[in-house]
Amino acid sequence: MKCTALSALLLLVQAPAAALHSSALRPSLDAPGIVTHGPRMLKAGSSREVALTFDADMTPGMEGELRSGKVRSFDNETVVQALEKTNTPATFFLTGMWAQVYPASALALARHLGFEIENHSYDHPGFSQPCYGLAMIPDAQKAANIERSQRAIEAATGETPRYFRFPGGCAAESDVKKVEAAGLKVVHWDVIGGDANQPDPAVIVKDVLGRVRGGSIVVLHVSGGHAPATGLALPAIIKGLRAEGYTLVTVKTLLGQP
Ligand SMILES: [Zn+2]
Repeated sequence: MKCTALSALLLLVQAPAAALHSSALRPSLDAPGIVTHGPRMLKAGSSREVALTFDADMTPGMEGELRSGKVRSFDNETVVQALEKTNTPATFFLTGMWAQVYPASALALARHLGFEIENHSYDHPGFSQPCYGLAMIPDAQKAANIERSQRAIEAATGETPRYFRFPGGCAAESDVKKVEAAGLKVVHWDVIGGDANQPDPAVIVKDVLGRVRGGSIVVLHVSGGHAPATGLALPAIIKGLRAEGYTLVTVKTLLGQP
């Protein structure tokens, strides 16, 4: 994984630049029980399905940035507009805290027929360290954090998530077990969209189109603020993927869930 890809994962923390380029920061993407992509092959040949996913991060620190006016919004409406305009299904991994800060947006996402709502923890802590400078959550609080997010998302949207994505992709096997005990399946990604802290949409388009394969799960962000150009990049991403023959689907569809 390239350093740029690693730094792209760092949506919200102000970690020292040196920390972003440490090889020790590779998230546990390949651990047992973690889905990183859908089928590469369909019965009739190679899969042409790809899932675009959008994380809605929120931490107490980000909430503080909103209150102080340092960041105007962590709800990037241009992402949803670009998806709607092109009739593109998508999966949103919400932190419970984001759903509480933006309940109207969370509900609108859930009411959208083409969108799927999933769980991205309550307040975006690091479940294992190192994790891009994210605050570590004590073991004893992890199960409650997962559940708290589940309840916050249900309260805001009426939807019960079935998938869980660890912040930064950081998790130990014991964490995966905790997610499974809560009745959820861990879903990460195989393509980093590179939209975090990236002001140039052309870079994001190139990152996504250059890395996608059949069955890919692409991680992007809907939280704006620290991912300002995602909505600007989406029209070209969607057009480019469809031009290559890919069908854009939700994670649920990609994984063949009923
Ligand atoms: Zn995240």
